[in-house]
Amino acid sequence: MKKLIRNIVLSTTGQFKSVANGIHILNSHYIGRNDLPKEVFHDLLKKLSKQADFIPIKDAVVAIKEKTRQNQKLIAFTFDDGFEECYTKIAPVLSDFNTNAAFFINPGFIDGDKEYRKNFTENIVHTNKAPMTWEMIKKLHQQGFVIGNHTLDHVRLVGLTNEELQRQINNAKNRIEEQLQSSCDYFAWTYGRNSDIDENALNYCLNEHQYVFGGDNYTNYFSFNNSVFNRRHIEGNWPVSHINYFLSKQKKY
Ligand SMILES: [Zn+2]
Repeated sequence: MKKLIRNIVLSTTGQFKSVANGIHILNSHYIGRNDLPKEVFHDLLKKLSKQADFIPIKDAVVAIKEKTRQNQKLIAFTFDDGFEECYTKIAPVLSDFNTNAAFFINPGFIDGDKEYRKNFTENIVHTNKAPMTWEMIKKLHQQGFVIGNHTLDHVRLVGLTNEELQRQINNAKNRIEEQLQSSCDYFAWTYGRNSDIDENALNYCLNEHQYVFGGDNYTNYFSFNNSVFNRRHIEGNWPVSHINYFLSKQKKY
């Protein structure tokens, strides 16, 4: 019921809203929790492209940092958890629109055996989707997509020992770099709220990565003293009116 009311409010209010000026970084996981055709995501981007321009994620972070392009309506994309459909459906659609994304991956999910994956999909990410393979990830990297770190096992980065942080953050980064033969400068922490990371963990992330992303406090470009980029959560099958509603908010420094 609460969800229904929320949907009605977002749809009716969202109809009259449009994307505000500034740079919007979106954060998604998949087109939908269930298996949906790529046309669903294509259709959403077609609608969004009528009111905003899409830019590569690397350009978005530079513009936000340098406070440029504030009079344009710009959208950049990021996807967490590294599901196979990022390679089979999402990346091809983004390429159709001449843009790219950052994909934040969990090396443990990719390397895990059947039992590991079962636990990961059932108890951690709650969707029955396979991960991308390293081969797929390498191809995306070669095509100019950004491959980022999302911890080794998708753990919540609160209250962990230094040893655990080292394993979850540094070892995951090393595994990605070893596979791609390229430095991994992007990190997005799990669950995304500012309460889902503590100071010690954030320091580890910031020491190891040039760009760190959360998913909270969207109307501000940054959290944690300008050190973390905030992203707005949406998924590829959400109605455009809902997305318009969220992106109509003026962004601030
Ligand atoms: Zn995640």
